[in-house]
Amino acid sequence: MPTLKAVRGTRDLLPPETALWNRIETTARQVFARYNFGEIRTPIFEDTSLFARSVGEETDIVSKEMYTWEDRARAQSEKPQSLTLRPENTAGVVRAYIEHKLGETGQLQKLYYIGPQFRRERPQKGRYRQFWQIGAEVIGPPSAGSESPLRDAEVLEMLATLLDTLGIAGWTLELNSVGSSADRERYNQVLRAALVDVAPKMCVDCQRRVVTNPLRVLDCKVPEDQPIIETLPKIGDSLGQDSKDHFAQVTAALEAAGVPYHLNPRLVRGLDYYTRTTFEFTHGGLGAQNALLGGGRYDGLSEAIGGPKAPGIGFAMGLDRLVLTLQAKEADHSSASPQVADAYIAPLGEALNAPALTLARELRRAGLHIELGDGSFRLKKSFEAADKAARRIVILGEDELQSGILTVKDFASGIQTKVPCVELAAHLAKPGGA
Ligand code: AMP
Repeated sequence: MPTLKAVRGTRDLLPPETALWNRIETTARQVFARYNFGEIRTPIFEDTSLFARSVGEETDIVSKEMYTWEDRARAQSEKPQSLTLRPENTAGVVRAYIEHKLGETGQLQKLYYIGPQFRRERPQKGRYRQFWQIGAEVIGPPSAGSESPLRDAEVLEMLATLLDTLGIAGWTLELNSVGSSADRERYNQVLRAALVDVAPKMCVDCQRRVVTNPLRVLDCKVPEDQPIIETLPKIGDSLGQDSKDHFAQVTAALEAAGVPYHLNPRLVRGLDYYTRTTFEFTHGGLGAQNALLGGGRYDGLSEAIGGPKAPGIGFAMGLDRLVLTLQAKEADHSSASPQVADAYIAPLGEALNAPALTLARELRRAGLHIELGDGSFRLKKSFEAADKAARRIVILGEDELQSGILTVKDFASGIQTKVPCVELAAHLAKPGGA
């Protein structure tokens, strides 16, 4: 029988690497808390139409990359529901915002999430079919200030702080504005006109996009199309005064706060719901898949999926890519060293298994990291196992049990000591070498 493996584009995350994942998640939670964000957890699958209506039918994500299936109908008269593994989390958060009437609080909702997303992309380094995102959204009724450029600047400043706190040096913030939906409509017309003559020389996908959604031509990855895309008009030239003023206030606030950015007039992002500010943080060390995170404003998203007016801004960062970036740093290699427990308890004989479990329970409750051996092991085998797993071995034989005095050997120093049971936790809590 062929051996079963994780499905292409998915992978197992094992210790010690998972320690680094946890560290990143913990840091993100701490930073989000300082900005007064709360956690939201939405389902991993949603009704397919949620993504079609928010991310956009013509995007690569919806047209090519979603894992979609028909659920079994509950009754014969019912049409089967089309379900999709979430390819991103903003749509789910906004759906939840509408469903739970969070707008009626009259307050800004500041929500973050951490979880897996699914896209059927071609796997390569930094690109997987199941990948993790850490993201956040600021959304609310306009009366709560959800359209303010200060919200955009605050989110960007928070991201700069988060990356700095994680120790990711050398990031670049790429910034653009794609304007309001009216600006986008104007730009789509300008693009369509500019594409009339050149479209026949472009790939079939682009030829279709010219008709359905010209903006998506700018996402085309076909190398032969790039020189043509370079000559197309820029979205910045189609922005109305309101969008220009909004963007100017975002950049002014960033400058005041000392957050460096780089204007990139070609940054339109691969999802349809973005309006006005769009951004990406990139990192040179990542190679071809150099985007650490992306995001932007989505002022019309709630209405597009049947909700009230609820402008918002958010981002999603690739946890897999943060891990790759941190692993590449020489100094971080220590976090990938195998886990080493404070002590290994070696019961001498199966009759001592139960007392050994009791001792391990007490020491663990005292906060120590304990590896528990097995009474069927001979002493030599216990020593070998202990040497790999822990800094010290604690020997628990009949004599030790009777006297309450245990034998402890420290592997680094080679010193063997007798320690009364009551002092054991304090002894093991000391750094190694004693
Ligand atoms: P997006 O939702 O496309 O704006 O992506 C936001 C971030 O998620 C990107 O900047 C990446 O860091 C990460 N990301 C997106 N797709 C993948 C993938 N297939 N594998 C790994 N990370 C991804």
